[in-house]
Amino acid sequence: MHTLRGIYTIDNSENRNHGMECWALDCSEGVVLIDGGMTPQHVDNIAAELKSMNRTWSDVKLILVTHKHGDHTKNLPRLKELTDAPIKAHKLEAPLIQSAVGVEVEPLEDGAVLPFCGGIELVWIPGHSEGNSNYYLKNQRTMIAGDTIFGDEKGNLTPPPEKYCLDVKQASKGIERLLNYDFDNLLYAHGKDIIGGAKQKVENLVAQNC
Ligand SMILES: [Zn+2]
Repeated sequence: MHTLRGIYTIDNSENRNHGMECWALDCSEGVVLIDGGMTPQHVDNIAAELKSMNRTWSDVKLILVTHKHGDHTKNLPRLKELTDAPIKAHKLEAPLIQSAVGVEVEPLEDGAVLPFCGGIELVWIPGHSEGNSNYYLKNQRTMIAGDTIFGDEKGNLTPPPEKYCLDVKQASKGIERLLNYDFDNLLYAHGKDIIGGAKQKVENLVAQNC
């Protein structure tokens, strides 16, 4: 689905309710995938999205990972075979993902800027997992928040549920860090994307959590 110019949300949920997403960015430097789903169906979903973008697997030049959980990482070996693109994640997470799925994952520092789509910045917010990361697209005023934020059925934003978190207090408190960035759009893995007015919604969430 085409949500924003050059940013494609791939809905991997079975009932198409945006319960599990990953993303493809159509940059002039090549396609960047963010997360990769967990099943062969999800690989097919990514292939279909690439086709809709008039791109192929060989156009994929970089794979970024938000964090180590299986629903974001299990397809990485298959995606590596299909694209031969480097896979990168926050430095605390890279070795964990590498040993879990058996494919090379290069470490990134907090604040690293990848030279695609005018710059993609890694924003580290630990708590959901140790190296949990967001990817900020300054030119598109878009924050890809992975599992830093969840959504409930009504479309309200919430912190990640405790049962999925390494340290839920740290995860909730860390959301505040997103407010250091200017964004209109918030794309997150488990809930409906917010297009327009997203920063205000995150401000409200942070205020509720204090
Ligand atoms: Zn997760």
